[in-house]
Order: sequence, then structure tokens, then C-alpha cells
Amino acid sequence: MIFELDLPLEYRLEAGWLARWAEALMQGTALARSCRQCGRASFVPERICDCGCSEGSWKPVPGKATVIRRTSGLDGNFGFVRFDGADTCAVVALEGFEAGDRRGELIAPAGSLPKLIIRPIHEEVPD
Ligand SMILES: [Zn+2]
Repeated sequence: MIFELDLPLEYRLEAGWLARWAEALMQGTALARSCRQCGRASFVPERICDCGCSEGSWKPVPGKATVIRRTSGLDGNFGFVRFDGADTCAVVALEGFEAGDRRGELIAPAGSLPKLIIRPIHEEVPD
């Protein structure tokens, strides 16, 4: 049995302490949160580090990531990835990935919401 229901929801979300991170995402760039006490870089940023410290600074990172695991669902392909320069992992949408693609680069999302989306990188020039 299926019940059909029209359920409109309207949200107005403030980015709060994540405002700089969200603004960067909207431009397709990446900011990691660097812990003031231990230097651990988190992307997606963590408010409180594993060491217990809640002080940190924003650190630009390249926005390139390595796919560790991937899955496909009804609403697209997703990956568990680690961004270069980050000590943590993140879940992102994979756009245009083929079976063998393992590296991707952050892109600016379409629309008005910050989203974590990467497209594959096929050739990289070492920095
Ligand atoms: Zn720390």
C-alpha cells in the first residue's frame, strides 16, 4: 500500500560558522579547517577536532580528491573520498565518473545550494 502525500517544505538555513566554507564551495573551491592545536585538516570541516580543540583556521586546499569507495543509487553516483591536503574523508556526488576513474576535482554546483560534487580528472600535471 502506498500513500501519496504532497509535503512542501521551505527552509532558510544560515551557514553560521561554515559560511566561508559554503561560499568557497559555491565557487567550486575548497577550504579545509585546520586545527589550531594539532594541525589536523578536516574537509568537510569539523567544528571540534578529534583532539578536543574547537579553535581553527581556514586553509585553502586544491579541491582534488581520490575516490576510496563508490556507490550508485537512484539519485546518482556517490563516492567516499579524501581531498588532497585533508586528513579526513567526505561523501561527494560523482558527476561523469566512469568505472575506472579514481581522481576527481570539485566543481561549482548549479543552483543556489552548496554541494560537494566532483568531476573526474583524467590527466594531472604534478605541481
Ligand atoms: Zn586537533
